[in-house]
Amino acid sequence: MKTIIEPFKIKSVEPIRMTTRAEREPLLDEAGRNLFLIKADDVLIDLLTDSGTSSMSAEQWAAIMRGDESYAGSRSFFAFEAEVKRITGFKHVIPTHQGRAAEKILFTVLHRPGAVYLGNTHFDTTRANIEFAGDTAIDLPIPDGLIPSKYHPFKGNIDLGRLETALGEHGPKVRAVIITVTNNSGGGQPVSMENIREASRLARKHGTLFIIDSCRFAENAYFIKRREPGYEGKSVLDIAQEMFSYADGTTMSAKKDGLANIGGFLGVHDDALAVEARNLLILTEGFPTYGGLAGRDLEAIAQGLREVLDESYLRYRLRTIEYLVEKLQQNGVPLIIPAGGHAVYLDAGAFLPQIRPEQFPGVVLANELYLEGGVRGVEIGSAMFGKRDPRTGAPIGPAMELVRLAIPRRVYTQSHIDYVAEVVIAVHARRTALRGLRMTYEAPFLRHFTARFAEA
Ligand SMILES: *Cc1c(COP(=O)(O)O)cnc(C)c1O
Repeated sequence: MKTIIEPFKIKSVEPIRMTTRAEREPLLDEAGRNLFLIKADDVLIDLLTDSGTSSMSAEQWAAIMRGDESYAGSRSFFAFEAEVKRITGFKHVIPTHQGRAAEKILFTVLHRPGAVYLGNTHFDTTRANIEFAGDTAIDLPIPDGLIPSKYHPFKGNIDLGRLETALGEHGPKVRAVIITVTNNSGGGQPVSMENIREASRLARKHGTLFIIDSCRFAENAYFIKRREPGYEGKSVLDIAQEMFSYADGTTMSAKKDGLANIGGFLGVHDDALAVEARNLLILTEGFPTYGGLAGRDLEAIAQGLREVLDESYLRYRLRTIEYLVEKLQQNGVPLIIPAGGHAVYLDAGAFLPQIRPEQFPGVVLANELYLEGGVRGVEIGSAMFGKRDPRTGAPIGPAMELVRLAIPRRVYTQSHIDYVAEVVIAVHARRTALRGLRMTYEAPFLRHFTARFAEA
């Protein structure tokens, strides 16, 4: 059959509070035209993030009831550890309350004066933790990864030529090469096995660690199965195991491919590194057999990790994103292609060419999707990443003005996705009428969360 159905039935439902455009207009005004300041109850389809927003399965809820809340040596820890080891093979598995806690511990332990990290594209929390330790993160994506309209099967790859040069240039200062799968900041684009293998070989040749940021390891593994010659006949578990076999360590947010609402872990092989990491864990997260989590959370993650490797789930998951991309493309909506693993990225710069970056085209577009249909996405552009010249105060924009529509796992059905497409297409039809914004309040850090806007 051609129709790819949701491979689940719905047992428990959460009502959506329906609102009209007339009701949403004052809500957006009160929120200073910033969707982060809108109450979730006032949103119809919430595509702000795919992080921690998954629906859990009946088996996960059953596992929650089995959670063992013992402080030390909890049975739930051993269930969690066994599942993580089965997939990743790491000798040491250290639970944390979410991905960034694993990053904080790893980059604190690896810190040396002048340390450098090389990656395909460091995710914001990864970069922030590296920089907080006083170190430097350098992104080395392949050139095609930066061109929205260009097709490449593995647009998340690291540029191996530039990696080799940078390894030579920075020598022993390079503490690790970090590959993020899929490449979140690069559009949820996958990394090929060949690229992982070669990046690992280069890292080892230069005597440095090779780390995988594995938040979306299952989505990446399924892309490899679909697109990389030689992997068609392998199971997704085999592919994931091979990916991890090239790594010395991993940081993971279980809020993504753990299919859980909270959690994460650090996995490493090295005994000395694990001892240092556990010592820090006790200081900031908790005892090594629970990290920052309750026993029931560990159970939900263990079960989620089993379910995420189910190929009928992954086929449906990646098809959802591709389906929305195809519908929008057929209607002339500019976006990043090919479809990534967890989100659709609208090219707001091309969508609203009449609005200059200083007038936040991404915020204008995201706000309009909310007004039109109650759909909440997130601007990834000048509001989130724009900086000011320290001397002149003039705005310096990022490379792209995007609106990300992240799809929560197992939450929305095909008719929800059809509705989202209809909303985007309706806004696209009257795009020339939209006008820019100016920022009326801005915090010194991470300004996009609390900024307020008014008509320019
Ligand atoms: C979400 C994410 C993180 C951080 O994980 P949290 O659970 O949000 O702390 C790190 N890397 C990538 C690629 C992510 O998507």
